[in-house]
Amino acid sequence: MSAMERADAVVIGGGVMGTSIAFNLARRRFGRLVLLEKGAICSGTSAKSSAIVRTHYTTPPTARMALLARGIFERFGEEVGGEAGFVRTGMLVVCGPAHREAVEETVRMNRQLGIETGFVSAGEACRLHPLLAIPEEAPVVFEPRSGFASPHDVAGSYARAFAGLGGLVRQQTAVSAIRIRAGRVEAVETNAGSIATGHVVIAAGPWAGPVGRLAGLDLPVMASRQSIVTLRPTAEYGSHYPVVIDLASEVYFRPETGGLILLGDTRHGEDRPGDPDRYEDRPAPGYAAELTERLSRRMPAAAEAGIAGGWSGMYEVTPDWNPIMGSSAEVQGLHYCVGFSGHGFKLAPVAGLLMAEQLADGRASTLDITPYRLERFGEGQPLRLGYPQAGVVA
Ligand SMILES: Cc1cc2nc3c(=O)[nH]c(=O)nc-3n(C[C@H](O)[C@H](O)[C@H](O)COP(=O)(O)OP(=O)(O)OC[C@H]3O[C@@H](n4cnc5c(N)ncnc54)[C@H](O)[C@@H]3O)c2cc1C
Repeated sequence: MSAMERADAVVIGGGVMGTSIAFNLARRRFGRLVLLEKGAICSGTSAKSSAIVRTHYTTPPTARMALLARGIFERFGEEVGGEAGFVRTGMLVVCGPAHREAVEETVRMNRQLGIETGFVSAGEACRLHPLLAIPEEAPVVFEPRSGFASPHDVAGSYARAFAGLGGLVRQQTAVSAIRIRAGRVEAVETNAGSIATGHVVIAAGPWAGPVGRLAGLDLPVMASRQSIVTLRPTAEYGSHYPVVIDLASEVYFRPETGGLILLGDTRHGEDRPGDPDRYEDRPAPGYAAELTERLSRRMPAAAEAGIAGGWSGMYEVTPDWNPIMGSSAEVQGLHYCVGFSGHGFKLAPVAGLLMAEQLADGRASTLDITPYRLERFGEGQPLRLGYPQAGVVA
């Protein structure tokens, strides 16, 4: 019988999170590292992302993470190597009168954290985005350094940089068991054999629930279907238009490759658990028209746009729409970085760094990740959202 393969750490999941964690562990010289992905790199929810990179967040720790992560997107070539596809377009957040207080509080807090952000008048907003119709009294926030990036570039670049540092990437390799002995992680079993290891990091996106259960862990992450619509406007919609989050019409939109508009919903889609291995990958009939109607209240020209296509993906939703990051209190060597609730793409560069610190040093030091501990739900200490109707804005 051949000797069992050994690793110092095994990362489960090859989306933007898992690849970033693996790369950051390799950069820390954590030892022999294996990244396991049951499909291909960037084949899970990361592939379905709108990939908006913003710092407007209502929860202070998440705003901090977003600010650090945006810096990494801006310097991706030097810090990681390869492409991230980051396009800086700026971003407008258009609010209804009901959001005034919450949005003022968010902007104040964001500025205290050093985020470049502030209010602009409706007239200035329309100069930045001439197709918008915004009432004079609407509060509008502008973040000049936000934009969007490319999930395939990001996950691919992290995986390549990880391999370049000696890390082992195993695709088509599904973890079927996590073995624990005497309160410690001992090994993982896969369809391609077992790997003995003292550290396992669960970065399984919307599969967090079932993968957590392999280690007896109850991760409250609901896989929930959410759809995106793409529109073909009558005039090309290029990257000179900023990303827009419209809390009043409950839509968000950004330029998409090919002169299209990528249109998403700030309302939560299906509030019931779905199966990330089996779901309808197209928006439901009527959804595209309904979403476009909401968009055209803010951008009248959208009423003339044709529906180009769309897709559905799986959000990985926690009870407070914020991630779960940390290490198990019961099982030594068991770590998790999951539940990013439809807004984790932009956070992946810093989440990977923080998880590498957590494993290597026993605690994350660049930022405190204890607000994201799993135990917060049982303790009745969920994070508080500024815009509860738009959890995904978090
Ligand atoms: C429609 C939509 C729009 C979004 N828009 C944005 C946005 O604009 N901005 C933003 O920041 N975020 C956005 N997000 C959220 C963002 O895409 C996710 O938070 C992020 O991609 C999560 O990455 P991940 O690596 O944790 O998950 P995933 O990419 O799903 O990676 C997990 C991986 O684990 C693998 N896996 C699962 N089980 C096993 C197993 N047993 N063994 C081995 N491998 C396994 C899966 O195959 C998968 O590849 C959006 C999400 C959706 C669905």
